[in-house]
Amino acid sequence: MPAAPGKGQASQRLFFALWPNAKLQTALHVAGQRLQETFGGRVVRTENIHMTLAFLGSIPAERFDELLGIGGAIRTKSFELKLTEMGCWKRSAVGWIAPESLPEPLTNLVLELRRRLLAAGFRVDDKPFAAHVTLLRKAKCRPQPARQQAPLEWCIDHFVLMRSDTLPDGPQYSQLATWPLS
Ligand code: ATP
Ligand code: MG
Repeated sequence: MPAAPGKGQASQRLFFALWPNAKLQTALHVAGQRLQETFGGRVVRTENIHMTLAFLGSIPAERFDELLGIGGAIRTKSFELKLTEMGCWKRSAVGWIAPESLPEPLTNLVLELRRRLLAAGFRVDDKPFAAHVTLLRKAKCRPQPARQQAPLEWCIDHFVLMRSDTLPDGPQYSQLATWPLS
C-alpha cells in the first residue's frame, strides 16, 4: 500500500528513483569516502543514497493519484547494474558513481516514465538521462582520469516514488510508493 502524502502540505517535492538496499548503500557510502579523498566535499548520508530516474519538482497534493497511476502502468523487467565508474561534475559540484553500461531495461524505464509524465502534463527533464548515483556534494571537481571501482553489483527489482523535504540538517527522503519490476 502506498503511503499517503504528508498531511497538510499543499505541494511536495517529488521524484521517481531507484533505492539500493542498506547493504549496498553502505558500500556506496564507503566508495563516496574514497572519492572524497580526491575531491573533498560532503559525502551523501548512507540512507539517502539513490539514483534519480525522474525529478518532478513541487507537485500539488491532488496530482498524487495520477503519479500512482503512472508508476503502476510501467512494465519493465528487473535488471542488474554494475557500478564501476567514478568521477566528478564541475557544473553541479557532484561526485558520482555510474554503471559501466546502460542496460536496456533501465533506458526503457526512464523513457517510459518520462513519456507518461509528459503526456499527463508534468514537467520533465529534457536532458538525456545520465545514470549515476551522487556520492558527494559541494565537491571540488578538477580534471582527473576516469576512476575505476571494483564493481558494486546492484540487482534492481523495484522503483519508488519519493518525497523530499529540506530539513535544517539536510534533505530527508520519504518513500510514498513502490512498484516491482517483473
Ligand atoms: P536539497 O535540494 O534539499 O539540498 P537534494 O538535492 O538531494 O537535497 P532534491 O532537490 O529534492 O533533494 O532532489 C531529489 C533528487 O532529484 C536528487 O537526486 C537530486 O539530485 C535530483 N534533482 C534535483 N533537482 C533536479 C533537477 N532539476 N533535474 C534533475 N534531477 C534533479
Ligand atoms: Mg536539490
